[in-house]
Amino acid sequence: AFSSTPGGQKACEEKIRVTVRIRPLSRREQALYDLIAWESVDFNTIIYKNPNQERSAATYVFDRVFDTSCSTQRVYEEGAKDVALSALKGINSTIFAYGQTSSGKTYTMRGITENAVKDIYKHIEENPDKQFVLKMSALEIYNENVHDLLNLESGSLRLLDDPEKGTIVDKLIEEIVKDSQHLQQLISICEAQRQVGETALNDKSSRSHQIIRLTIQSSLRENSGRMKSFIASLNLVDLAGSERASQTNAGGIRLKEGSHINRSLLTLMNVIRKLSVEKRSAHIPYRDSKLTRILQHSLGGNARTAIICTVSPALSHVEQTKNTLSFATSAR
Ligand code: ADP
Ligand code: MG
Repeated sequence: AFSSTPGGQKACEEKIRVTVRIRPLSRREQALYDLIAWESVDFNTIIYKNPNQERSAATYVFDRVFDTSCSTQRVYEEGAKDVALSALKGINSTIFAYGQTSSGKTYTMRGITENAVKDIYKHIEENPDKQFVLKMSALEIYNENVHDLLNLESGSLRLLDDPEKGTIVDKLIEEIVKDSQHLQQLISICEAQRQVGETALNDKSSRSHQIIRLTIQSSLRENSGRMKSFIASLNLVDLAGSERASQTNAGGIRLKEGSHINRSLLTLMNVIRKLSVEKRSAHIPYRDSKLTRILQHSLGGNARTAIICTVSPALSHVEQTKNTLSFATSAR
């Protein structure tokens, strides 16, 4: 069994960190003579400039905008690093990639994960006085069914409510990680598993959410001889394509039974919008989807969150990019 760790240490008060990454025009887009319609004019601003018109039509401001020249390393350093490393201090944290299909979510999350793993192990090496136990689990949510990416045989997994631990994914494998090489291996297994499903169902990756969860327990012997220990999770989340939520407006989302919308994605968007409004007493609808139940203790409250919104620069994708940026704006 595996739990979303409640409690943890108190994080500094910060709203959700929202950044935007513009990928380069793809070869396919170039071949189709697509045009670049977006540019970042400084570190915080992205503007829409229809190349067929003179004036720029829209300006959006974020904590950081990464243009096509920014490496994933840089996106990690400035958009995710401190959120990732707060798990080492006992603070639950979550890093999301949000954007339409083919905007660069998986590309970005792979790099973020790789960099975070490197930094976590660097920290472990630099702190020989502390003991660390690292565990890893990975799951996919597809059509509101939860699957173990380390054990696809196990079928659809149930969520259980534990009075102490919060929501638990029943029977999810949690591997004890030996070293960074072992962790890389486990991550490769998940990626391979994700692709297995892909051939059977073509657009699966655009509809499914993937969570890689690292749970870090660190212990230190105090001068008194007593052991002091922290435990927290870092969740690395590659979301379903945001076009799955495109029929909705910015004001709020209604979930209709039996419709084709992605319940987990829409509920997550609702939760994030509500958290950003900062009304502590407000009801946050974590319970409305599998994704938000699983992430409840790593989202809002004392947890730290970073959302990297990935966008295509292409004119042909302008409506989807606007939708992404409008969600990103509401998340800040
Ligand atoms: P998504 O997961 O959002 O559907 P992908 O991450 O699969 O999108 O990216 C789509 C394609 O674009 C892939 O071939 C990927 O390698 C490429 N790509 C995405 N982002 C970048 C980037 N920042 N620089 C270079 N290539 C990128
Ligand atoms: Mg993807």
